Amino acid sequence: MSNNAYDKQVQEFMARIKAKNPGEDEFHQAVHEVAESLIPYIEENPQYKEAKILERIAEPERVILFRIPWVDDKGEVQVNKGYRIEMNSAIGPYKGGLRFHPTVNLGILKFLAFEQVFKNSLTTLPMGGGKGGSDFDPKGKSDNEVMRFCQSFMTELFRHIGPNTDVPAGDIGVGGREIGFLFGQYKRLRNEFTGVLTGKGREWGGSLIRPEATGYGATYFAEEMLKTRGESIKGKTVAISGSGNVAQFATEKVTEMGGKVVTLSDSSGFIYDKDGIDEEKLAYVMHLKNVKRGRIREYADKYGVEYHEGKRPWGIKCDVAMPNATQNEINEEDAKTLIKNGCYVVSEGANMPSTPEAVEVYLESKILYGPGKAANAGGVAVSGLEMSQNSLRFSWTREEVDEKLQRIMKDIHAQCEKFGKEEDFINYVKGANVGGFVKVADAMLAQGIV
Ligand code: NDP
Repeated sequence: MSNNAYDKQVQEFMARIKAKNPGEDEFHQAVHEVAESLIPYIEENPQYKEAKILERIAEPERVILFRIPWVDDKGEVQVNKGYRIEMNSAIGPYKGGLRFHPTVNLGILKFLAFEQVFKNSLTTLPMGGGKGGSDFDPKGKSDNEVMRFCQSFMTELFRHIGPNTDVPAGDIGVGGREIGFLFGQYKRLRNEFTGVLTGKGREWGGSLIRPEATGYGATYFAEEMLKTRGESIKGKTVAISGSGNVAQFATEKVTEMGGKVVTLSDSSGFIYDKDGIDEEKLAYVMHLKNVKRGRIREYADKYGVEYHEGKRPWGIKCDVAMPNATQNEINEEDAKTLIKNGCYVVSEGANMPSTPEAVEVYLESKILYGPGKAANAGGVAVSGLEMSQNSLRFSWTREEVDEKLQRIMKDIHAQCEKFGKEEDFINYVKGANVGGFVKVADAMLAQGIV
């Protein structure tokens, strides 16, 4: 079949997806990218076509929408929306994070849940895909307000989740503090201590390296990509966006491996530290963001470096870019600027941080581009290891978990290479999409029309 015939099939498939899921732009974007890789593969493997696997995989098994009423510190009643998308359970219980951010809506969570299905499959661990969250904004809220909100959220969610059914974790706006409040309420409602959430504290069922896993994993993935050219992260200049969980631990690992991180950002702007963000400066960022809950601008005041209000860091000269903040944070123009300035590695800690046009620029330039569903799978992989440890009532050492994480990132890279190898470069987009698809699709075939 010709490329034009594939394009036509993708367009027809996407027209049906858009008609069925109106207004869900991010979901359309995520499905489109996957359909472009999969439709040619499915044509060559007609068993998937006959069983309508692609149509089924793009439809959530279940979507739960609920009201979250809570009372703020002034005694005023507040109401938020709560969601859980249970996307696919062919290879294991639903698994994926919770996002608390004012922009959260159904389309964003469906895109994240859809991506999660492929990502979880790539980890080689038995986890289905899910995602959830709320339009609640934790910024500026007191600890007590966050706790009351989390308790109300879990008062509905608890009836839909369980260690063998659906195991949520953190994402934007949901870190250790929120997971603690959510777990406490689940335990109280169910009267059982069980591994229903991952990202738990060390003393109450959490895994070592879980907080670090996404940022570390995205760095290991960059290293694997560099290895294909006989290179390493050592001595490379790295531009990172975000300053939350993923950005912090990517900074830590890049620095440890001998690279130099020169930027960090938040939704207000970015800092540019030419000398590199070393261990001591990173400790300052961690305190600023995780304890004081301040803005990245304060870093510039403290260390006397440049701060660019309202801007993203993609104009800064670097070898490696790690977008670690949010979706669609690199557009076509940014991608061109990065490449013009010498960047030739993009490892995505965030989910879908590059627009389709930016991805096109990477693929045309044949740079080392690791899409989020492969590069940031380290987080959910260690969540999977946390589930195993909870089931075993046992915990592995830091070294053991880190060693497993490194092996998983290598395996993910190998799958991308196997399914994405083209004449003169590795197409990691195709590799991750096809590699993630096969296991889920075969399980769906085996389980019948369900
Ligand atoms: P955090 O909430 O810890 O940090 C998010 C960071 O991104 C903050 O610096 C935040 O700035 C910034 N940010 C958020 N929204 C925007 C926006 N609209 N524009 C610009 N900056 C923004 O989240 P995580 O670090 O956990 O998540 C970051 C990304 O990584 C997300 O895409 C998430 O889905 C993905 N991811 C996370 C995993 C995990 O294990 N945590 C696993 C896999 C992927 P501000 O404080 O100003 O909002």
